[in-house]
Amino acid sequence: MMKAAQNENKIRVMTASEFKTKIREGKIPAIDEIDAVTCGTFGIMSGTIAVFSFQATEAGVFGKAKSVFFNGVPTVIGPCPNENNGFIDLIVLGTAVSKDSEKYGGGRLFKDLVLRRAILAEIETDNDSFTKTLTIDDFNTARIILTRGAFKNYTAFVNVSDESVSTIFSVRPLKGESEEATVSGCGEINPLQNDPFLKHHKPGTFVLINGAPGIIIGTGTRSTKDKPNLSAAADMFEMNPDLMGGFVTAKGAECLTSVASVIPITDTETYAALQITDEKISLPIIDVSSRRIVAETTYAAVWKGVDAEISVSPEKCNRCGECAAAAFCPTGAISDSCIVSDECVFCLSCTSACPNGVFTADGGSLFVNGKTVPIRLRQSDRRRGEKAASLLKSEIEFGRWVI
Ligand code: SF4
Ligand code: SF4
Repeated sequence: MMKAAQNENKIRVMTASEFKTKIREGKIPAIDEIDAVTCGTFGIMSGTIAVFSFQATEAGVFGKAKSVFFNGVPTVIGPCPNENNGFIDLIVLGTAVSKDSEKYGGGRLFKDLVLRRAILAEIETDNDSFTKTLTIDDFNTARIILTRGAFKNYTAFVNVSDESVSTIFSVRPLKGESEEATVSGCGEINPLQNDPFLKHHKPGTFVLINGAPGIIIGTGTRSTKDKPNLSAAADMFEMNPDLMGGFVTAKGAECLTSVASVIPITDTETYAALQITDEKISLPIIDVSSRRIVAETTYAAVWKGVDAEISVSPEKCNRCGECAAAAFCPTGAISDSCIVSDECVFCLSCTSACPNGVFTADGGSLFVNGKTVPIRLRQSDRRRGEKAASLLKSEIEFGRWVI
């Protein structure tokens, strides 16, 4: 749908955060006072892959590529064979881990490329081995595909056993006896939470993936009616590096991805779904080993009245040798002098890793079987989800985005 008003920059659009604030204030706009709401989510999306194509040599130099590593990250050659033409097509999994460092994986590689950093390609062919330095501009194709992403929220995990468990839902082994919790999901600003029946997230609909224009291909793997997710694709060349990245869990490298979409207010059912706030969005709390639901809360416990960011007090640092906070920072954001870089996704990990309270934040807590359990890890960054939604709002207001 293209509204005439959009060309005159008069479309009335709010971000989901702005809209929910109005609801909390009791100032809900009438349905004819607003045209659309933009939503966003940012977090670990393990189903992220990238497809690349580049010219490695002149034609006739080699028959076929046998293996390629980008900054040590393994790739999957093909599917096109590219016999004798010097080209290599390949796929990189966002969860692939570098052979050179377990802290570097597909997610960080994608971000490095978008930052226009040079990467090292180690190429083995059927008759030679050589290296090549590449930047994103050397690729004919550099495209991210979500096999599944933007889940309509997710879950919280605790470990009810009496022993710590290493899991993809923690960056350190998750302590037993429900001593701590980890959470995922951006709550009330999530695109599919605001469009639970996928009326406005159909194949062919435009979305922003990592800040770049993309398109929904369909529902993603493991999508269900109750817990839908999306499959989508976007070229990497215009992506925003702040809206993507890498993360390292206790089980290996992961990929941080963002998705933003716009929900046009076309009917009362759509408008009703948009009015649901964190307090009404269920968050099941699951035992990480048995995957049994042990309690239930709402996303208000995760995002209401908590610190979205962390505070840093470098003067409290006693230089205790190997910095535990830096070692367990899943994005590599902490430097030697306790300086936190823009890589920080406010996951909270450093707040419990540092014994001296250099890093602090109120990350909220969950109530599990009569016990208050602190949230010690967030695998979603609501601030960046809001940033993605704001970016899309600006695109619409400037007439650069067709609803
Ligand atoms: S763990 Fe805390 S006190 Fe120790 S070096 Fe790191 S920031 Fe400093
Ligand atoms: S909150 Fe702490 S551990 Fe998490 S990304 Fe930021 S600096 Fe790293």
